Amino acid sequence: MAREFRKVGIVGLGTMGAGIAEVLAHHGVRVVGVDVSDDAIERGRLHLHQSTSRAVARGKLSDAERAAVLDRVSVSTSLQDVKDADLVLEAVPEDLGLKRRIFAELDEICTADAVLATNTSSLSVTEISAATKRPSRVVGLHFFNPAQVMRSVEVVRTMLTDPDVVADVECLLGRLGKVGVTVGDKAGFLANSLLFGYLNHAVVLYENGYASREDIDTAMRVACGLPMGPLALLDLIGLDIAYQILEALFNESRAHRHAPAPLLRQMNAAGLCGRKTGCGFYTYEAPNSPAVLADDRTPYQPDRVAGARPVDRVGVVGSGSLARSIVESALRAGYTVVFVPYRAPDCPADQGDVDALRDAVERELNRSLARGQIDELSKKVLSQRIIGSTRYRDLADSDLVIEAVPDDPADKRAVFTAVDGVVNPAAVLVTTTSASPVIETAMATGRPSAVVGAHFSAPAPGGPLVEVVQTIVTAPDAADTVHAFARRIGRHVARCHDRAGFLVQTLLFPHLGDAVRMLQARYASVADIDTAMKYGCAYPTGPLEMLDSIGLDTALAVYRRLYREYRDPGYAPPPLLEHLVKAGYLGRKTGRGFHDYGG
Ligand code: NAD
Repeated sequence: MAREFRKVGIVGLGTMGAGIAEVLAHHGVRVVGVDVSDDAIERGRLHLHQSTSRAVARGKLSDAERAAVLDRVSVSTSLQDVKDADLVLEAVPEDLGLKRRIFAELDEICTADAVLATNTSSLSVTEISAATKRPSRVVGLHFFNPAQVMRSVEVVRTMLTDPDVVADVECLLGRLGKVGVTVGDKAGFLANSLLFGYLNHAVVLYENGYASREDIDTAMRVACGLPMGPLALLDLIGLDIAYQILEALFNESRAHRHAPAPLLRQMNAAGLCGRKTGCGFYTYEAPNSPAVLADDRTPYQPDRVAGARPVDRVGVVGSGSLARSIVESALRAGYTVVFVPYRAPDCPADQGDVDALRDAVERELNRSLARGQIDELSKKVLSQRIIGSTRYRDLADSDLVIEAVPDDPADKRAVFTAVDGVVNPAAVLVTTTSASPVIETAMATGRPSAVVGAHFSAPAPGGPLVEVVQTIVTAPDAADTVHAFARRIGRHVARCHDRAGFLVQTLLFPHLGDAVRMLQARYASVADIDTAMKYGCAYPTGPLEMLDSIGLDTALAVYRRLYREYRDPGYAPPPLLEHLVKAGYLGRKTGRGFHDYGG
């Protein structure tokens, strides 16, 4: 029988302590909250009052339930008042000396069978437990912020923690409606050690001027369906806290990915700690306000692209699903579209290919008609605005030509050379390459400054995204033209410079690779990794599930390409991924990857 914790002491009623107190009280547990001063207690109490009244306003709590929750929480400035608690959870600032002092005191005050827990994000639970004479009754309970919302809680057991203590706190978490993920005592535990390498990487890209903060955040939010972009999330976490966590991670892993980006140290020194100080990567209306203000680093308004050239006629080369979807979206957005299907370099398309693509678009328009999204007249107008041809010269009057042929660099260059020879010299040429630098395709034309990359993400959880890529010679108005086109056809846009992986793959793949390496190191199971990231960081799917959806063979090819380019261990294909691919476990499409889909 698991032990029932009826009374819990919380030491530190700040952001986390007050939130955890509310969760416990909401589930019938009596709470004694302790903080250093009357002011601090008042802040904690206010937090609790405001949070519960928001819950009432949203219909999640009745007035009577709210009164009962508040009634179950008492507060004090004396640690002595937790003496009869079954469990004491410490949530004071991330300072090892302070935490150890509090644990030594609690050890004296509390009953011999009381469990002592710490909410530390990055410190060693073992070192904290060593300040007591009961290390077997000390455990980490890492709640995520906001504690009331995030479902996952990491249970950190040290080498000395009694398994019964772990079982008892896991049972308590179940009672609180939380999903406990039990892991060993390692810097950053599970979620933070995966999350912070990725957040730090985003800072490095920003610091190196690879993309604006808005582009970095949009790319990850839209393409991966994350609730926030990495820089906005760092502002929310606090750059001071983030720096401490990265330091702790680096001290243990010595991995370059965890070495705090120098910009983080500079921003902290300048007091730009994120939302709490009113300024971090973004500028906020006031300290602690979520409202972002435009500032001198706001690069452009998403829908007003200064230098865009006028575009009426769009040419598309290609026959696959991407080409078809660009043709359809451009038509619906009011462009006249000329398309030239593509088979292979030595096998020109014929009239059958033109008819096939036209029929596919026609079927899509009929579906829209049946769904009432367009009427007969608009369908007729749209059908008249599409021109199919087997000859590149029919693209001559286009203002913008997009190649969407299979991802072979040599083929793409050949298409560009041919198109460049016949198309209006003022037209912008767009390549959808993701396998080779855009500049290489651009140099196959006589107008490299008018060549822009556009990486259309596969159907993205947060909506369709286009990474608009400019090379070192791209004219700004050419990039603006593609940006404006992508917005008009309903895509989100993230602008970046020309480098392998652009923005999304550059940030995402090392992050997913860390999860695979963590699994391979047997620190956590597939289910635990995915659960912690899903319920602790609000990811739409866990990282391993994400790889299963991408396809493990596809992912492996991306790692190999990125590693060839950067030679950085962060991009190296994780050995476990290679083994799974060799075994034919390719993810969802074969019914088995990291997860078993019963296929
Ligand atoms: P906070 O600064 O908001 O709150 C800390 C509270 O502890 C303050 O109210 C402070 O007055 C009080 N305190 C300081 N010294 C004390 C003492 N000697 N006795 C009693 N109370 C004392 O900090 P926080 O963000 O709530 O973080 C608390 C802990 O939770 C840290 O270990 C942090 O790493 C961890 N954590 C934070 C987050 C987050 O996003 N903020 C998420 C997960 C875990």
